[in-house]
Amino acid sequence: MSRFWSDTVRNILPYVPGEQPQDKKYIKLNTNENPYPPSPKVIEAIRKEIGSDLRLYPDPEASLLKEALAGFYRVKPGEVFVGNGSDEILAFCFPAFFNPGDVITFPDITYSFYPVYAELFGIRYETTALNSDFTVDLGSFPEHADGILLANPNAPTGIAVGLNEIEVLLQRNSNKLVIVDEAYVDFGAESAVPLVKDYDNLLIVQTFSKSRALAGLRIGFAIGNRDLIEALDRVKNSFNSYTLDRVAIRAATEAVNDKEYFAEITGRIIKTREETAKRLVSLGFNVLPSRTNFLFVSHDRLSGMELYSMLKNDGILVRHFNRKGIENYLRITIGTEEEMEALVERLSCYVKSV
Ligand SMILES: *Cc1c(COP(=O)(O)O)cnc(C)c1O
Repeated sequence: MSRFWSDTVRNILPYVPGEQPQDKKYIKLNTNENPYPPSPKVIEAIRKEIGSDLRLYPDPEASLLKEALAGFYRVKPGEVFVGNGSDEILAFCFPAFFNPGDVITFPDITYSFYPVYAELFGIRYETTALNSDFTVDLGSFPEHADGILLANPNAPTGIAVGLNEIEVLLQRNSNKLVIVDEAYVDFGAESAVPLVKDYDNLLIVQTFSKSRALAGLRIGFAIGNRDLIEALDRVKNSFNSYTLDRVAIRAATEAVNDKEYFAEITGRIIKTREETAKRLVSLGFNVLPSRTNFLFVSHDRLSGMELYSMLKNDGILVRHFNRKGIENYLRITIGTEEEMEALVERLSCYVKSV
């Protein structure tokens, strides 16, 4: 603490990302990274981009990437915003769409960055309880809220709501902006992108960090009607003209264009997820229905903390949230088949010994 700290810095409780230990080699199933490398075409594009052109600023509009995304999602380039990870875009949403004193609402168990952004930008927030089966009650958001922020599928539960339910939510809340964080949508959930043309209160945020295996490059995007995108552009251009560097723009464009590779690795992760879920159920674990690249699981005879510690001891990192209501759950990222084999083997040992 220094006497030069602002009140904001003094009071804020920053988000704590999952461990990225640099000391020993773990089987890393704790931050929902993709177990597979980026597309070979992405690596090749990065190699080509590294040269004397790095002395030049990147295209501040990242038009190449916006056009690729617009083509892939069948929207117009003007309906696409790109940013330095979807975290940055989610952060921009707060000053772009809300005033101090406005209320934004989201479930109490969801991505824990949302309340941090609200604090940072001085926007009030109210949370609503999940149902007892961990599904989101879409009717529970307070009427007086100015905006709704929904992770779909939700994190860390992995549970998704369908497109029809999103459409009903948009109709019932036509006077509120609904931001849908689809970080995990490519692992078997339904995207709300097709609704953008009919609903001016819908903004979708997605990331290249999970399904496109590019967490290290920091790329996210948003899709919504032009006027919403313009608001994000205004915030970005009042903050940093060049949020995406030349290498990221080129690499992300190749990632979008390599549809076959994308389909292959997401398909593989979904298959591994389903097999792992079955095996964990047979070991007595309670496994929530996941449409993501992770499983949210608990066991009656072993606490979340115990399981987390035993696994860490054995070289396997998973995520444990020390939070009321989910303290007995572990969030386990889907790794390669071999990694999940090692995980199941360890867990079956622990279960047999209690
Ligand atoms: C991983 C994640 C993000 C952030 O992704 P980045 O693009 O890496 O910043 C956003 N929302 C949710 C729910 C996530 O799990």
